[in-house]
Amino acid sequence: MGLLSRRNLLVGAGAASGAAAVSACSSSDTGGGSGAGAAPGRPANWPSESDWEALNERVGGRLIRPVSPTVACASDAGGDACTEDLKALENPFVHEDLAGATQSTGWLDAWTTEVSPYAVAAQSARDIAAAVDFAREHDVRLVVKGTGHDYLGRNNAADSLLVWTHHMRNINRHDSFVPDGAPAGTEGVPALTVGAGTRWLEAYGAATEAGLYVQGGGCTSVGASGGFIQGSGFGSYSKAFGTGAGGVLQFTVVTADGEVRVANQYNEPDLFWALRGGGGSTFGIVASTTLLAHPIPSLTGTVTGTIAAADDAAYEELVRRYVEFYPEALNNPSWGEQVRFNDDNTVELALTWLELTEAEARATWAPFLDPLGAPGSGFEVDVTFTEIPFEHVWDLMWWNENAPDDVVADPRANQPDNQYWWAGNSGEVSAYWSAYESRWLPLSMYTERPDQLVRMIVEASRIRGFTIQSNKGLSGAAPEALERDRQTSLHPGAFDAAALIIMAAAQAPAYPGVEGHEPDTAVAESSREQVNEAFSIIREALPGQGAYANEASFFTEDWKQEFWGDNYERLLQVKHEVDPDNLFRVHHGVGSDED
Ligand SMILES: Cc1cc2nc3c(=O)[nH]c(=O)nc-3n(C[C@H](O)[C@H](O)[C@H](O)COP(=O)(O)OP(=O)(O)OC[C@H]3O[C@@H](n4cnc5c(N)ncnc54)[C@H](O)[C@@H]3O)c2cc1C
Repeated sequence: MGLLSRRNLLVGAGAASGAAAVSACSSSDTGGGSGAGAAPGRPANWPSESDWEALNERVGGRLIRPVSPTVACASDAGGDACTEDLKALENPFVHEDLAGATQSTGWLDAWTTEVSPYAVAAQSARDIAAAVDFAREHDVRLVVKGTGHDYLGRNNAADSLLVWTHHMRNINRHDSFVPDGAPAGTEGVPALTVGAGTRWLEAYGAATEAGLYVQGGGCTSVGASGGFIQGSGFGSYSKAFGTGAGGVLQFTVVTADGEVRVANQYNEPDLFWALRGGGGSTFGIVASTTLLAHPIPSLTGTVTGTIAAADDAAYEELVRRYVEFYPEALNNPSWGEQVRFNDDNTVELALTWLELTEAEARATWAPFLDPLGAPGSGFEVDVTFTEIPFEHVWDLMWWNENAPDDVVADPRANQPDNQYWWAGNSGEVSAYWSAYESRWLPLSMYTERPDQLVRMIVEASRIRGFTIQSNKGLSGAAPEALERDRQTSLHPGAFDAAALIIMAAAQAPAYPGVEGHEPDTAVAESSREQVNEAFSIIREALPGQGAYANEASFFTEDWKQEFWGDNYERLLQVKHEVDPDNLFRVHHGVGSDED
């Protein structure tokens, strides 16, 4: 039986299903135990069968028993069903369709995916509130999963009740949105309200159709309302439009007391601030998010390719020229995305431009690329400029016609026509991590200490390659974007940052516990060591700079300061106010170290 035919198991078809359905489901449940009372390994105070059935009734039959996506492999790891299921799990949207799956399968010495014995397949804030009440009243660990993209495994836990928001994907467009509680006469703005499970691909599609743009992430399958937004969220065009969190006008959120609250700059302003950067699963469960919509830009484009240096000395020269070129030419709202420095004397470009023609983009790069491309320069330049009408950025058909290798269409039948992911993201599907490090890179390194920056890049990239992602630093961003972002709880260090440095190591696809498909521990350990060694050079060169909480190490020391800087204390105050008993607790979340 293949993955798609197995799906998640409903506890019962509504109130009539009764407890029999609960036990009938348990044979396929790999979460352990029967769910009735305190099964072996379950907490002693585990709710009774009738408690669960009462919850099932309250959520209209939407209590389900999630199934491990690799359950077929447990009995026959070499069998056809297992092979078929593992193949399917190379598709990020398959993970999202299954309550028991997560995009990452684990992290060395940190976590591996656990399947909750029960999940509320929520369809409304009321369903979420029922789950929150149940968890609070029965002292059951609560976890939330939207798309399941979290790197740190904060979307799953053993012996937990999962709130699964995947089905909450309504999108409503407003010509003139005014937040609840705004003073009379407040001018409305165009906006989209997206349900908690909405993916950026869907939000972009709805915005584009209306001639609008909302600022989200680059990855099509990441969530537009969950951890991305609540952890700040950067996309290709963040130097023009700011973070995802900065674009939020209003949340509907269920807090630990089971209340459905509306949070915006007028209602619950502290909670609103905290939800915009303070991290997912910490202050409540967001049911929907209203996003500011901008008029759709007209032009974008990409600069992609490789520059190879002939030897070590030429590589250092290449890095030096890039460090000189970047602040003048690229640290502005027209540019985004990343440059990769490799350990083989190559530099890879993967940048985006906004509202420039191809000729203008080429002219921007000419002072850097032309001398490198000259005969006898000691460099090989293989760089492509591609202009893209903005309305086609999230249009699979356009990509299939113009750059088919860049996209992977969801191969399953009966999926939306435009459902696809970037080929470059395939390496993160079913990924098992051994390291993930990030650090804000202040603009002053380029302008005041360029020699030190060159040395840092060269020395660290000798050991392991890494990316410098300029769209994830707000120095040089548009003033309106900065103004919005200053109202959020984003790490203050991001404002002076030209970019975010990211160095990571993963094996994909890899499935801990699935014979023949497990991650190679020796490889994981050695790549972790390599990252540790290389990243210590970066950390030493950038003391006191924080990390981006959504893309950081599971083992971050001093995580409060690293993730939120001086904002931590205020975030903790809000946490104490809205969740005094710490119902929402995730690894390295605000207040997670308190009782
Ligand atoms: C392939 C890939 C590409 C990425 N690209 C980018 C990028 O371009 N820019 C960027 O900034 N980041 C990016 N990220 C990182 C991303 O921001 C984080 O992984 C983020 O946590 C994803 O949030 P999610 O809601 O989609 O995932 P989930 O795993 O569902 O949720 C993440 C966290 O938020 C919580 N949560 C989810 N929904 C809710 C809710 N409704 N209410 C409260 N808490 C909730 C979860 O419990 C979990 O703790 C990427 C990640 C991946 C895997």
